[in-house]
Amino acid sequence: MTVARTTTTDPFDDVAVLCERLKLPEVARLAASWAQQAAAEHWTYSQYLADVLQAETTARQTRYVVSHTQMAHLPFHKTVDQFDFAFQPSLDERHVRQLLTLQWVDAAENLMVLGPPGVGKTPLIVAMALQAIAQRIPVYFITIQDLVADLRKAWEDNRFTTRLGQYLRPRLLCIDEVGYLPLNTLDAHRFFRLVSARYERGSLALTSNKGFVDWGHVFGDPVLATAILDRLVYHSTILNIRGDSYRLREKRRAGMLGEAAAPHAGGGTPMTVGVPVRLKRRADDGFCALAWSFRTVINHRL
Ligand code: ADP
Ligand code: MG
Repeated sequence: MTVARTTTTDPFDDVAVLCERLKLPEVARLAASWAQQAAAEHWTYSQYLADVLQAETTARQTRYVVSHTQMAHLPFHKTVDQFDFAFQPSLDERHVRQLLTLQWVDAAENLMVLGPPGVGKTPLIVAMALQAIAQRIPVYFITIQDLVADLRKAWEDNRFTTRLGQYLRPRLLCIDEVGYLPLNTLDAHRFFRLVSARYERGSLALTSNKGFVDWGHVFGDPVLATAILDRLVYHSTILNIRGDSYRLREKRRAGMLGEAAAPHAGGGTPMTVGVPVRLKRRADDGFCALAWSFRTVINHRL
């Protein structure tokens, strides 16, 4: 096969033009200088070619991660390596790292992170989100307050279905702070529509400071809460963090907090089980959905 040359004389001018056409900016940037280095250091042609293409691939992945991290709307960018597992002994680091393989996202399952304020629920789902972005999985992060406000606005503007469709696009949707504020009935219904629409189609990673038994209050209606929980929990992993607030630890160490801010020690946590629990309901399970959800709640409080 013959190679069609462009009219310029310096081959690296050709390279620049061709790289522009092929959208290979990193190759264009490095080709000439690395060719000089290759000649000086006696690299093989194949090594030179592999190295410039590898540089392009790495740069492309970096660009992807930067732009998609922005689009994912994360509150901060901490990875799991910045998480202090020693501070939260109720959390099994191996299990969290296993979850970072994101097999649960491949299976369109959910992750629910429960625990009192300040124990690191948000950083855990952010770590999952960052890992998902690195694996080129579409991700979006939002607090439940912003989510229901957005859906409410869309409802008022008569574009609820379209907006709902946009929340179905990310394969991983992170919803933070469920339970901090109770929802009114209409907001709760719209949230239910979202959870139903994503059910078995896309993953949710959700944090809550409330145990499941309190969700009736959060959603203003126990039946609706059960319907939401049933869909969330059916294929889900639950991490229940029983621990002390990370934010308050320094202050507590310095003796700046009194008894009122004493460590939770598990007693005030949403659920009293300390180990991650993986829940699966078999399709032939004889229990009806409602009974199953509450049975789960009760079991997990043991
Ligand atoms: P939660 O979402 O459970 O309320 P936060 O994310 O608000 O917890 O945690 C408060 C702050 O403490 C955040 O800046 C978070 O990154 C940090 N943090 C919490 N737990 C840990 C931890 N175990 N290791 C490192 N940082 C932590
Ligand atoms: Mg948080």
